[in-house]
Amino acid sequence: MISWERFKKTKAAGMGIVLPKFQEAATDYQDETLAKEGERIKNCGMMIKAIGCKKCGEKFFKGYARCKSKYCPTCSALKGAIWCAKLYPLLQQWLEKGNNIHFATFTIPDQEDLEYALKIIYDAWRYMTNKLVPKEWKERFAGGVKAVECKIGKYSGKWHVHIHALVLRTGYRKDAHFLKENWSKAVQHVMGEKIQVAWPNIKPIKAKDGSKNRDKLLWSVCETVKYATKINPDMETYRVAQAFYGLKNRRQISCWGVLYGVSKLVEKEMDEESDNLIKSFKCTTCGFDISEFLEIWENTGKYWQDTEMKDYKEAVEFVEKPIELNFDKNYWYDEEDNICVQTKFI
Ligand SMILES: [Zn+2]
Ligand SMILES: [Zn+2]
Repeated sequence: MISWERFKKTKAAGMGIVLPKFQEAATDYQDETLAKEGERIKNCGMMIKAIGCKKCGEKFFKGYARCKSKYCPTCSALKGAIWCAKLYPLLQQWLEKGNNIHFATFTIPDQEDLEYALKIIYDAWRYMTNKLVPKEWKERFAGGVKAVECKIGKYSGKWHVHIHALVLRTGYRKDAHFLKENWSKAVQHVMGEKIQVAWPNIKPIKAKDGSKNRDKLLWSVCETVKYATKINPDMETYRVAQAFYGLKNRRQISCWGVLYGVSKLVEKEMDEESDNLIKSFKCTTCGFDISEFLEIWENTGKYWQDTEMKDYKEAVEFVEKPIELNFDKNYWYDEEDNICVQTKFI
């Protein structure tokens, strides 16, 4: 769950920036669908769930009714937090086993048309991993997570579409050359031979760096799963419409190999509007330790503005059993002493 502070801040951004943009775009293009998306974001979090301490009556923020729009700052923040919570422990385990991770960014040349840019980047990725070097790809990498992000390029003024990926490496080997060469080939295959393709940016997260990696790993995970696109106050309305229709039926984040299945866990948690994962609760105001507390749905609709919102406390602990990656089974060492694992590729 996100904190009450974060909820208020993102809700204010949704109401103050995103909603007016969708309304403006809906008017400019006489488009009911865009207007509806705006309404959906507007109604997000109008109801929140709070829990009350039975002894002192203090109220704690517990959850909110979600709109799940890709453009809702609150739901994006929540989804990012859930992704981090699911991925981070698994990646930490991966490093602890002596394996490595590459945080890699793959780009294509900036494009005016977002739909075209998205088609290129999804096709190039699929071509590289399934057609160009499928066998080597599977041998080198046990799995990973990739996310597509769309921004307006600072210099080009066009769509800058790129993929952030966390690629799980069994053992350690430099893959920079392999990724550069094949990404260029894949993009050229879908766009045409003469296209200049920027080299992927690769930042290794090495097992041998141990706990020093913690921040780097967390930063990389957050960077990967943040959002598909961000609606800015200065974004032109045709860009808003392009983003909405371009990303409509696209899966932004996907996992493969040993991470396969994490997406489903995230979706499941996004669907559960009543976070019923509380295993322990301790009131931070009076210290009362209770197994029973009051659950209240409250209407925040009238008080959405940051300054008008009531104060809720945060003291809810979510205790969840971490999932284990079963990469201990069937592992062996290759000629370079790298740990190799038997994984399932789908
Ligand atoms: Zn209390
Ligand atoms: Zn929402």
